Amino acid sequence: MRIDVFSIFPGIVDAFCAESLLGKARQSGLLDLRTHDLRDHTHDVHRTVDDTVFGGGAGMLMRPEPIFDAVESVQPPRPLILVGPGGDRFDQSIARHLASLDGFSLLCGRYEGVDHRVREHLVDAEVSIGDVVLSGGEVAACLIIESVVRLVPGAMGNAESPLTESFGVTGLLEEPQYTRPAEFRGWSVPDVVRSGDHSLIARWRLAQALHRTIRVRPDLIEARGGLSAAEKRLLEEFAPVSYPASFAQGGSAAPDQ
Ligand code: SAH
Repeated sequence: MRIDVFSIFPGIVDAFCAESLLGKARQSGLLDLRTHDLRDHTHDVHRTVDDTVFGGGAGMLMRPEPIFDAVESVQPPRPLILVGPGGDRFDQSIARHLASLDGFSLLCGRYEGVDHRVREHLVDAEVSIGDVVLSGGEVAACLIIESVVRLVPGAMGNAESPLTESFGVTGLLEEPQYTRPAEFRGWSVPDVVRSGDHSLIARWRLAQALHRTIRVRPDLIEARGGLSAAEKRLLEEFAPVSYPASFAQGGSAAPDQ
């Protein structure tokens, strides 16, 4: 997968992507990351990429010319995505979509952002990492790259992880998990996960994932169309929890088994 990043601080993205899973993905050739310094596309001695805002107002804005020049000279993989607080909220389904592509590109703003013509005439989409304002798009780009590349087949050691973890195929948060020691400061691991009964453990896990999601992120339950009759039974059996009546009217969420 090829990912191009345009920024005035390409070193931030390069350094982040040198370590751990991303570093390995780069070394193995699975990730072809190309960072581009927008200042290389300026023509003045100060390598200026910003200017004041027409009409007045605080701060500086990124000029369109270096950005258009950089993108046009590289012809990076599309979609070219501007990262910014005004974009579509980035989530696991966007990550999955990007992971299915051969490549894509990210454009990082700085200062007060970019001249609006970049948004209108150059990029294909705008994505936000949440309702917060960062000083620049590099951390957002790193977040996107990390969440996408780990979904590319071969990037992670355990091929099942993307399926079973939060926001995976079930649309739920992951269930509580435990490792050794079985007893820690008087808190013991639930007997069921040490029972060795894999069918029981699977049902317990799904019940716990449902329980946790209902309590912490009920919006995810609504998004998947409520609870199926089988899921309601599992909850009653393993992890009773109260939930809005509207959840129980669903049933389209997962096929009953
Ligand atoms: N003046 C802008 C904020 C600019 S912040 C506004 O009020 O909307 C500077 C840069 O940081 C942006 O151009 C963008 O690339 C990046 N950035 C800030 N917040 C972000 C977010 N929530 N998601 C993605 N990128 C963000």
